This record gives sequence, structure tokens and C-alpha cells, in this order.
Amino acid sequence: MPLDKVLLDGVLADGRVVDVQVADGMISAIVGAGSAGPAGGDRFALGGRLLLPALAEPHAHLDKALVAATINNETGDLYGAMDAMDRALKGWQFTHDGIVDRASRAVEMLIGHGVTLVRTHVNVGEAFGAAHIHAIVQVRRAYEHLIDIEIVALTQPSLTGSAGRGNRAALAAALAAGADLVGACPHLDDDPVGCVGVVFDAATDAGVGLDLHTDETLDAGMLTLRDVARAVQQRGFPHLVAASHCVSLSMLPIADQRVVAAEVAAAGIAVIPQPQTNLYLQGRGLASAMPRGLAPIDVLREAGVLVAAGGDNVQDPFNPLGRCDPLETAALLVMAGHQLPDVAYAMVSNDARQVMGRQRIEMTVGDPADFVALPVASAREAIATAVPDRLVFRAGQLVASTTWQTTLHR
Ligand SMILES: [Zn+2]
Repeated sequence: MPLDKVLLDGVLADGRVVDVQVADGMISAIVGAGSAGPAGGDRFALGGRLLLPALAEPHAHLDKALVAATINNETGDLYGAMDAMDRALKGWQFTHDGIVDRASRAVEMLIGHGVTLVRTHVNVGEAFGAAHIHAIVQVRRAYEHLIDIEIVALTQPSLTGSAGRGNRAALAAALAAGADLVGACPHLDDDPVGCVGVVFDAATDAGVGLDLHTDETLDAGMLTLRDVARAVQQRGFPHLVAASHCVSLSMLPIADQRVVAAEVAAAGIAVIPQPQTNLYLQGRGLASAMPRGLAPIDVLREAGVLVAAGGDNVQDPFNPLGRCDPLETAALLVMAGHQLPDVAYAMVSNDARQVMGRQRIEMTVGDPADFVALPVASAREAIATAVPDRLVFRAGQLVASTTWQTTLHR
């Protein structure tokens, strides 16, 4: 097999100093540094940088990214964000060229930060059909040599009854236009259980998976996650299913959380908490014992559920901050989600890849050669410093490099 690339003098998380050989975009050999030999391959010196699995973003909103300067959330909560979006959509503030321009900038931020795979939810609705999907498909094509982009058709409520006819038609148009998965917000629908049925029917007909904004509320009585788990089991649904957010699950007593977590595990549903937006949006108005709005990560994992984490919105009405950097999400998983740094790193790299049905990168022969190389000693230090210097490799090829220099003028 011909060598595409040899990455020289990298340090693995276990401390080994190695040369990594890449063939056909996959790791073909890992040998001690200096022993890769003279034969073949384009060579790149890592200079002793830490070599980690590339980052992956399992939950973005590229069509809405970077609109915070012009679309304002007046109340700061989820409903304020949805109202602001509604006004902007009705006012046709989302043009094709505008979406392409902002999404392109967000994609370039993701790539520069070390992301080689992103799943983005893209608004789809009766008033604007699949227009946002067309824009993001254009962006996907423009960057396909640098990053994999998965598109979820994020349908607007309501999807059910006669009121949902236009939104259901928009979903069909989105799937025809290139959306890879079906998405929705069942907890916001006039008929949450009916909404779950509609999206499973649509995904079954299209032969695609689902990623649902699930129970993004502190109301413990709203638990469509169980309806989603039931639908998977009763239908024998064969495709990937992810439940994003799952905020209300965190408000249940621990014994009840475990019962639901077991149902989610049995159905094979992955859960994707979004620490940044849920810390921002949830719990406003509660001055005492304010909840964090994070899905109960440890309870889910102990039940056998695959849990990754996403950055969600970036500089839009749902989140005025965000920098398209999964290390930011990882930092919040450590601080607000009480995850160990190495676990947090996995949740924004390999676990996120697995949620999207992709092969993990365990730094062994046969794994995809997608890496970030960083001038730090550990994943913990990478998260702590949000290290700006990054070399990003996809299928063994350098796709982005950032260098950062500070000079003290004494
Ligand atoms: Zn979202």
C-alpha cells in the first residue's frame, strides 16, 4: 500500500514518541520516532507536539451562526431566542448568500480548531421550505475536501395535524435537497407524541436516522425521550437515533433518571448534551438553587448510553458567545458537568464520531488519520489553555494550521 504521509516525532497521550505512517487516509503503522525509515511518503515534522484524535462537533446550527450582532434575544431564555428567530425569519433576514457567508466562516473556525466532522441542524419550515438546506449543501460542497458535514433537517413546530401540513412538506423538500437526517423539537409541538410518530415515519420512508432536540425544558413532566425510546423499540427502527439536550431528565429524582436511562440504553439512543447553550438559556428567573440544565451524563453512561457533547449555537439569539471550538464545550463538561478532562475530550472527539456512526480514532493501525497536534502535554492542558496553536490533519493531510505568538515588551 503506498504511503501518503509520514508524521514524524509526535507524542501520543500515553507518552510514546512516535512516527505515524498514513496510507489511504488511515493509520498504516505507528513506530518509534526516528524509525519510520527513508522510504516514501510526504513527511511532516510534528516537533514533539501531542497527537490527539481530531475533534468532532455533533451538534451545530450553521445556518444561524454569527447573527448575534443583528438578531437580539430580549429575554435571554429559550422562548426569547425562538421569538427573535421567528421575527428574523418572517422579515427574511436569512438570505441564501448571507447563510452561505456566515456558515462558511463558522466552518472555517471549526476546521481551524481541529474539527474534521460536524453535524449541523438546519432550519426547515413552511414559510421558507428547504432554502436554508440549499445554502448549507452549497457550503458542504465548497469545503468537502477539508471537513465532513452532516445535515439534519430541523423542522419547525408544529409537525402534526392540519397545522403541520406545510412543515411536513418542507421536511420532504429538505430530504430531497440533501439533508442526511430528520430533526424536530417534539417537546414544542402541539402534539409531542404525534410529532415523534411523524418524524419516525419520515425517517423510515427516507431510510435515514434521527437527531431530535429533546425535552429542552426544566419541566420534569415533559419527557418525550421515553416516547422516542418506545418508538425505536416498537418499530424496530434500524437507523441511528440521537437525542440532543435531554434537559428535563436532569430534573427527575435519581431513581427515575435510572429507569429512563435504561430505556434509552436498550433502544440504542445516543444522548448529546449542550452545556453552553443550556447553561445560558435554562434556569433564568430562579434565584435560588438554579439548575444547570445539563442532561445527567453519569447516570446515562452508567446505564450504557453513549453520551457525546455539542457546542450548539454560536453567537446567535440562543447563545451570544461561542467560538466553534469543541475545547470550549469540553471545558464546560469539566466545570459544569463534573467530567474528568480525558473523558470530556473523548466526548467532543471519539464519542461524537461514534454518535455520527463514524469509526473511532484510537491511535492504532487501521484507524482514520484525523488528528490535532498541539504544543501541550495532555488533553487536560489543551482544554485548560484552549491552546490556540493547532495543526489539523484529515485523512493524513494537513488541512489547517494556526500559530500564535505573544511578545512581552519590557
Ligand atoms: Zn440545537
